[in-house]
Amino acid sequence: MIEVIEVINPARWSEIVGRIPACSEADVDRALDQAHSAFKTWSRTTAGERASRLSDAARDLRNALPELATLFVRENGKPLREAEIDIRRSIELMEIIAADLPEWSKPAVVDPRQPVWARRRARGVTAVISPWNSPVLLSFKRFVPAIASGNTAVVKPARYCPLAISECARIINRHLPNGVLGVVTGSGAVIGERLATDERVRAIAFTGSTETGRRIMQLASGTVKKVFLELGGNDAAIVLRDAKLNDDAIARMTHAILRASGQVCIAIKRIYVHESRLDELVEKLARSFDRIVVGDGLAPETTMGPLNNKPQFDFVNGLLEKCHRKGLTVMTKGRKLSSANWNEGFFILPSIVLRANDDDDVVVCEQFGPVIPVMPFADEDDAIGRANNTLYGLRASVWTEDRQAAEAMADRIEAGAVFLNNHGIFRDLHIEFPGIKQSGFSRDSRSAALDHYADTYGFAD
Ligand code: NAD
Repeated sequence: MIEVIEVINPARWSEIVGRIPACSEADVDRALDQAHSAFKTWSRTTAGERASRLSDAARDLRNALPELATLFVRENGKPLREAEIDIRRSIELMEIIAADLPEWSKPAVVDPRQPVWARRRARGVTAVISPWNSPVLLSFKRFVPAIASGNTAVVKPARYCPLAISECARIINRHLPNGVLGVVTGSGAVIGERLATDERVRAIAFTGSTETGRRIMQLASGTVKKVFLELGGNDAAIVLRDAKLNDDAIARMTHAILRASGQVCIAIKRIYVHESRLDELVEKLARSFDRIVVGDGLAPETTMGPLNNKPQFDFVNGLLEKCHRKGLTVMTKGRKLSSANWNEGFFILPSIVLRANDDDDVVVCEQFGPVIPVMPFADEDDAIGRANNTLYGLRASVWTEDRQAAEAMADRIEAGAVFLNNHGIFRDLHIEFPGIKQSGFSRDSRSAALDHYADTYGFAD
């Protein structure tokens, strides 16, 4: 009998949104067999053919966008608006890669004197392991360049949020030969580890926590796979003495903290503010947090959904309890969309934590929830030192009117990207910078992503 995992709605636990197979190692074995055998023919197709199939798949996904976004909200919790953005960006990414593919696949002259050419060929099976917070986009970012460049892929989504990505794969598979894109669902410890150790898997693209990333790196070393890791973060925002804290700036900051209930790797997770602006920032942020409406992501009034799953819900509540126990000031804001259903979902109102010390868990941990510690600093060196005092290095931001000061600080802040008066994602989908330190290393942007999954070899006259 096939074991199944029930996927519940985090806004209403009694609702089972879907059931997925709890795949065994034997299921993974079968998926890898199929992927390995499909590779032989898929890798020989032309870039034009692959681009055309991906474009057709993207068209079908666009047509299914409303249903996909609704399903995604029901299994993930985030508000519909945010879910639509995730799915739309995933489709755009596919369209962009399909458009780039023919040009990218042409051999490039490295040295005209000899001449030497750089040619590319697909590597084999790619395993893609993704987290629950943004499983659609973070799977697309990896498997699309992998299959576009002629590899086959097996995707393993997180058990809490596997439905929308599985449905996307089903739609894409209408346009692909059998075995090019497989999905296996179930336990990370069982099937994830199998993917990380199997010899047929030539590259592994993992997005998730730093702890699991370390494990994947270790496991992948046995067969020297190409590893791609996008891991945890504890992004700092530094607010300088001259920062413009108008409504727009506070709205951008609030969004960067509370989008997806804070369950975003590149959310602002700590704020260091010049001591002269602490009270003003806290007051304005509190007012902004107070306008947040927490409820079911499908309700139009909701601006923040529940947390995605019980372990994360317990973890964030545990952090808040620790803050209370230590006597920190916890300002809880926002309102419940419905008090009646409040205890039937993983809902948490947004909080600002004051008077936290640098070694408090709420500052050190990646809280991945709607809780933000705000701490004063006296001088900028101190702020930079504290912002850098973390094993992570995804993103950071500096809030100031002094661009030069921000650039000088950016040189010293250990992060893959530093934003000025904003914090988050680049508007342009092809722009991406990898995390540093223990936040991993990735090659996400446009041709860099395609290059990552292909082997480049030289051909010389
Ligand atoms: P996680 O590490 O627990 O799990 C991620 C995936 O790995 C899941 O599919 C899980 O089933 C699988 N997995 C778990 N144990 C495994 C093992 N031993 N071997 C192989 N696979 C295994 O992370 P999560 O809780 O799902 O996601 C939250 C984390 O992801 C946060 O740390 C967040 O910062 C990070 N994240 C990073 C990025 C980024 O781009 N840097 C993006 C989103 C999330």
